[in-house]
Amino acid sequence: MAWSLSKAFTNLFAGARQVEPEDWENLEDTLLQADFGPRVTDEVIGAVHAVADVSATLDTDDLRRILGEVLEERLAAFDPTLSLASEPGKPAVVLVVGVNGVGKTTTIGKLAKFIATRGKRVLVGAADTFRAAAVEQLATWAERAGVDIVKPQQDGQDPAAVAFQTVERAVADGHEIVIIDTAGRLHNKSGLMDELAKIKRVVEKNVPISEVLLVLDATTGQNGLNQAEAFLEQAGVTGLVLTKLDGSARGGFVFAVQELTGIPVKLVGQGEGIDDLTGFTPHVFVRQLLE
Ligand code: GDP
Ligand code: GDP
Ligand code: MG
Repeated sequence: MAWSLSKAFTNLFAGARQVEPEDWENLEDTLLQADFGPRVTDEVIGAVHAVADVSATLDTDDLRRILGEVLEERLAAFDPTLSLASEPGKPAVVLVVGVNGVGKTTTIGKLAKFIATRGKRVLVGAADTFRAAAVEQLATWAERAGVDIVKPQQDGQDPAAVAFQTVERAVADGHEIVIIDTAGRLHNKSGLMDELAKIKRVVEKNVPISEVLLVLDATTGQNGLNQAEAFLEQAGVTGLVLTKLDGSARGGFVFAVQELTGIPVKLVGQGEGIDDLTGFTPHVFVRQLLE
């Protein structure tokens, strides 16, 4: 997987030599351009300075290593583990939320395949009933992933009813994981939040929800985060999914978004294909960033 961000980092502290004042400016520019945001950028530079002072080094190779350690340490504050624990005989339920176009349905297709490949029975629920096309899109992904789907019984059926029926079928048929797709239209925010609250209430009549995943498009940065504010305030989000990190020079958004929301990134999407989803592993991520 290639982060275009790493190109920018290649020129940082390049060559085995002593660090020059320009290197620090270069570091600041690189972090800002990569969407780390001003606060994280300042703190990262401060931390790199501090460690370099303590170890009395101005060696570019050392500085590169120190930068990697500082970045990893920041990520270590968040637990990226996807929680799929469930009660005996009941499925783990994952609710996927976010504004339109961020990649919810695509992520569900990828995640369903990922879990199914590891031998668990997955059922997806098409609770984005607002558009018939959304249901068909999820059905296509379910077929590719080789998993079962519950669709609305008629056009525009109450999303909460679809979610309820999905869980009911999972319990009856022994599916271990349920993933529920939801609408993301923003023209009526409070309506959407009420709808999500109702989905949760109805699902939790049967089983607790294991994860509420908020999907964010990494290419939209801070603006995308602002658009997702209502979800962060009202949807009980337990994990973030960052999509479209492929070809995005915005890998630093991972740092900014976790620290702004206090919520861990649990999955990363890096392409439109069914296998283009990974868990979030800080060590691997930082290595890729700096390589
Ligand atoms: P939803 O409205 O949130 O359900 O978004 P969709 O799943 O329909 O995705 C919207 C668009 O984003 C589609 O064209 C997807 O192919 C694309 N997309 C989703 N995830 C990724 C990703 O990780 N990388 C890229 N490049 N495109 C993605
Ligand atoms: P309300 O519609 O605001 O009264 O909210 P409820 O929590 O009563 O139900 C929300 C939706 O979930 C309803 O539209 C029902 O279709 C569905 N639902 C709730 N409980 C059940 C149930 O026991 N069986 C079935 N099949 N659907 C249910
Ligand atoms: Mg969708």
